[in-house]
Amino acid sequence: MIPRTHPRFKSLSERHAIVKGVKLGLTHTQGLIAQGRGEAFDYLLGERTTPQARKAIRAAAAQLLLAKHPVISVNGNVAALCSDQVAELAKILNAEIEVNLFYHTPKRMKNIVSYFKRRHNASVLHTLRGGKRIPGLASKRGRVNENGIWKADAVLVPLEDGDRTEALRRMGKQVIAVELNPLSRTAQRASITIVDNLTRALPLLASDAKGMRKRNKTRLERIVRGFDNKKNLNKSLLIIRRGVR
Ligand code: ATP
Ligand code: MG
Repeated sequence: MIPRTHPRFKSLSERHAIVKGVKLGLTHTQGLIAQGRGEAFDYLLGERTTPQARKAIRAAAAQLLLAKHPVISVNGNVAALCSDQVAELAKILNAEIEVNLFYHTPKRMKNIVSYFKRRHNASVLHTLRGGKRIPGLASKRGRVNENGIWKADAVLVPLEDGDRTEALRRMGKQVIAVELNPLSRTAQRASITIVDNLTRALPLLASDAKGMRKRNKTRLERIVRGFDNKKNLNKSLLIIRRGVR
C-alpha cells in the first residue's frame, strides 16, 4: 500500500483556502468540486511529489525558460490556493499572468485581477474587453488576451480544462499542465504534465527555474528532449494502480 507521509492537515487547509476563495468571489462553486476530485487523486498518489512529478517539473522549468513569451494561466482555484507562488514564479520566468476562467463572469475576472494587484502588486492580463478567441472553443471560453495566451509560445495551465488544453496545442503552443488526474484529457493532451498537487508543484517549479536560469539554451533543450510525457504519465498511473490493491 501507499505509505502516507503526513496526516491530512494539508488538504484541510487547502479546502479552507478554496472556501475562502468562494466567499471572496475569486472561485466558482464548481471549484469546490474540482478540489474534491483533486484530493481523491492526491490520496491515491500518496499525497507526495512522486519521482515522476519531480522529473516533469524539471522539464517544465526548462521549457518555460526556453520560451520567448511564457504565460501563467490563472483561474479561481489557482488564485485561492497559491497566488503567492504564481506571483513569484512569474517574476523568475519574466512571464505574464493571465486570468483564464472556465465559468467566465466579468465580476470574478475583476476580483481576481484586483486580488493580485492588492496582494502582490502584480499586473494581471484579462479578457474583460475585446481580446482574441482560441479557434474551436465556444464564445466566452475561448477568450484570451492578445498580449498573453494569444501570443504565448509556452503556457503553464495549472488546473485547465481538457478542451482548452487541446485547443492551445492545436495552436502550436507548448502546454504545461499541473493535474492530479493522470487520465484526464488535460493530462493526456498537454506537452508536459505534472501529476502533482499544485500547492507542492509550484514551489518546486520556481526553485528549479531559479536554479536553471543561467543555463544555456542547448542544455535546457536537452532536458526537454529527454522527457517523454506519455511514459511519465503511464508511470504515474502505475503508482495509483499498485496502491489500490
Ligand atoms: P478534463 O477536462 O481535463 O478531461 P475534468 O473535466 O475531469 O478533466 P476539470 O473540471 O476540467 O476536470 O478540472 C479539474 C481538475 O483539476 C481535476 O482533474 C482535478 O483532479 C484537478 N485538480 C483539482 N485540484 C488540484 C490541485 N490542487 N492540484 C492539481 N490538480 C488539481
Ligand atoms: Mg473538463
